[in-house]
Amino acid sequence: MRIVSLAGGIGGARFLRGLKAAAPDSEITVIGNTGDDITLFGLRVCPDLDTVMYTLGGGINEEQGWGRADERHTVKEELAAYGVEPQWFGLGDRDFATHIVRTQMLSAGYPLSQVTEALCARWQPGVRLLPMSDDRTESHVVIADADADGRRAIHFQEWWVRLRASVPAEQIALVGAEEASPAPGVLDAIRDADVVIFPPSNPVVSIGTILQIPGIRAAVEEKTVVGVSPIIGGAPVRGMADACLTAIGVETSAQAVLELYGSRLVDGWLVAEEDKGVALDGVAVEARPILMDSPDATREIAAAALTLAQSLTSPSA
Ligand code: GDP
Ligand code: CA
Repeated sequence: MRIVSLAGGIGGARFLRGLKAAAPDSEITVIGNTGDDITLFGLRVCPDLDTVMYTLGGGINEEQGWGRADERHTVKEELAAYGVEPQWFGLGDRDFATHIVRTQMLSAGYPLSQVTEALCARWQPGVRLLPMSDDRTESHVVIADADADGRRAIHFQEWWVRLRASVPAEQIALVGAEEASPAPGVLDAIRDADVVIFPPSNPVVSIGTILQIPGIRAAVEEKTVVGVSPIIGGAPVRGMADACLTAIGVETSAQAVLELYGSRLVDGWLVAEEDKGVALDGVAVEARPILMDSPDATREIAAAALTLAQSLTSPSA
């Protein structure tokens, strides 16, 4: 079976580990979010691609969910001793090496998709990991600021990491989206896929971002798509996805996220048992445990998503 999965960082990566276990003989292509990417200290950092690569490749810090295991922070401390900003973004020494290799290759003219493939040659994530685009796009957040004409746009990471999304976002925009194209292989992978799965990734700044790259949404709409709700009982399971949903005027509920995706895009939707009332015309909703609290539980969620997708593609359905 050929599976395509869109993915953000932590939620996406955890789910993908379960998907690999649920479908060991499948060919899985992951289209990763690059809207969170940022240049720090002259280095290009791709947090979501790296979270997927480290998680599936066995190098992730399991407790934290991002960054490298067995990490030290000597470089960060030395940069701080020079007073170099920003100091709010955590980069460990091992992680720095990834960003140095990436930046070196980008500077030599390689597109991000080839750089990602080169990094994955070391990590062997067991999936084909493609950035959504080789073109640079960045999520920016508009916040109120009394000093700057009332409002100011900041990089998504500054809002998310430095401000912990504590200042309300008035708007979230993917800068560069209109001019961007899907990375080589992205549209072909979607077209050739038997099913497309949305992990419980952030519907605004992960899945929503990927869908903004021209051509991707239309390609996905043609396929059988099953999504796993990132919202359980009116709250995100982990993180601050509610602040992103509020910014685009969407309620934090499994129902509202399903409506945001809509029945043109999504054919099946897995929700938690407490959200079993969720319904939308044209979408098969299934209530089951969707908490990824162990590798076994995560594998079962992924297996349920695949089973639902297959029931929706089979000719008798
Ligand atoms: P990020 O890029 O690191 O923010 O990660 P993602 O975009 O991939 O995923 C974040 C989303 O995953 C959040 O909205 C969480 O609510 C959701 N999430 C995290 N853990 C779980 C879980 O165990 N079950 C479900 N259903 N959603 C989860
Ligand atoms: Ca992210």
